[in-house]
Amino acid sequence: SQRTFSIIKPDAVRKGYTAAILAEIEKAGFKIVAIKKIGLTKEQAEGFYYVHAARPFFGELTTFMSSGTIVPMVLEKDNAIADLRTLMGATDPAKADEGTIRKKYASSIGENAIHGSDAEDTAAFEIGYFFAGYELK
Ligand code: ATP
Ligand code: MG
Repeated sequence: SQRTFSIIKPDAVRKGYTAAILAEIEKAGFKIVAIKKIGLTKEQAEGFYYVHAARPFFGELTTFMSSGTIVPMVLEKDNAIADLRTLMGATDPAKADEGTIRKKYASSIGENAIHGSDAEDTAAFEIGYFFAGYELK
């Protein structure tokens, strides 16, 4: 099986969707390996999203991601990285398929409820950014 990294973003936590999103994730067959509730500083959000530093929305994105509580987690199943991206739906919730988490719980391309790693190397970086080895048994 494979591990991936996910975050329930501040918009979804604020709206009270944490438990509903976790239920969707478990129903889809993911095991929750590690999970916590934290807040990021702007600098910590910038470090997490450094690959997007040159994008026009970087300031908006990192201000948003540091605007409230988030729920980072490590998830495990066969084909976890691709399957989580499918479960999440398109970045823009207006373009997301019916039944996806972003279709159900996201409000805009900027405030889109959930993050999921897009490849094995980014998953490894992102897991290490939020969790220590002893939390990942
Ligand atoms: P994520 O990396 O959060 O799982 P994603 O892989 O679907 O989302 P990316 O292209 O990696 O999308 O963009 C990272 C995040 O930046 C998006 O989830 C969204 O919150 C934000 N973002 C992307 N495009 C825009 C945009 N045009 N305007 C505002 N925010 C955006
Ligand atoms: Mg991405």
